[in-house]
Amino acid sequence: MLLELRDVHVHYNKVAALKGIDMGIPDQGMVTIIGANGAGKSTTLRAISGLTRISKGEIVFDGQRIDKLPPEKIVALGIAHVPEGRRIFPDLSVEENLRTGAFLRKDHAEIEKDLKDVFRRFPRLEERRSQWGRSLSGGEQQMLAIGRALMSRPKMLILDEPSMGLSPVMVDEMASIIRDIMERGVPVVLVEQNAELALKLARFAYVLETGNIALEGPAKELHDNEHVRRAYLGA
Ligand code: ATP
Repeated sequence: MLLELRDVHVHYNKVAALKGIDMGIPDQGMVTIIGANGAGKSTTLRAISGLTRISKGEIVFDGQRIDKLPPEKIVALGIAHVPEGRRIFPDLSVEENLRTGAFLRKDHAEIEKDLKDVFRRFPRLEERRSQWGRSLSGGEQQMLAIGRALMSRPKMLILDEPSMGLSPVMVDEMASIIRDIMERGVPVVLVEQNAELALKLARFAYVLETGNIALEGPAKELHDNEHVRRAYLGA
C-alpha cells in the first residue's frame, strides 16, 4: 500500500469526528470515500495532508510515518490535496495559479513541460491563461485547482468533492479528466457526495458513517449493495 491509515482518530475539541479508521490506498487506481454530510470524509483527507492533527493512530505514506509532519512537508513528499470549494488565487492569472503548484520544485525545464501537459489536458485553461483566476467559471476554477495540484508532480492526488456545483456536462468532463489522471499512474483518493459517480470511477470504496467505516469493498460490489443503494444511490 502506498498510504495506510491505522486506527486513526480525530477530535474537534472533545467531539470525535473519526473514531478509529483503517484504510489502505494502493500504488495504482482510485479509492473513493463516500458518506453522508458530516460523516468525516473531509476530516479523513485533512488528516492525510496534515491540515488536521490526529489524536490517535498512525498514517504511513510510502513507508514513512507522516501524521506528525506539517502540511508543507507532506506536500513535498508527494501528496497533493485539492480541497472542497475552489481555493484558487483570485488575483493571480491562470498561468500564475498553475505555477504556484510547482513552488517546491527546482527542475525548471520539467516545470515547463508539465505546464504544457496541463494545458494539453485542460484546453479551457490554456485559452484563458492570462485571465484572472476570479474570472473563471466554477467548473474552470475546479479544473485550475486540479491542474495546480498536478504541477507539484504528486505521487498521490486527493480530491474533495470535485463535482460539487458543476453542471452535468462539466461533471462528465471532470470524470474523464480524473480517469485520465488515474490511468497515467497517479493514484487518486476521491471524496464525493455524488456516490453514483464515485462508485463508477473508483476501484475500491469505503463508506464512512459518523466517523466509522461502515462498509468497504470493490466499488462494483458496493454499488450493488442493498444498504448503499438505499442510503446513497437513491434506489
Ligand atoms: P460534508 O460532506 O458535509 O462535507 P464530511 O463527511 O466531509 O461532510 P467532515 O467535514 O469531515 O464531514 O466533518 C465531520 C464532523 O466533524 C462533523 O460533525 C463536523 O461538524 C465536525 N467538524 C469538522 N470540522 C470541524 C471543525 N473545524 N471544528 C469542529 N468540528 C468540526
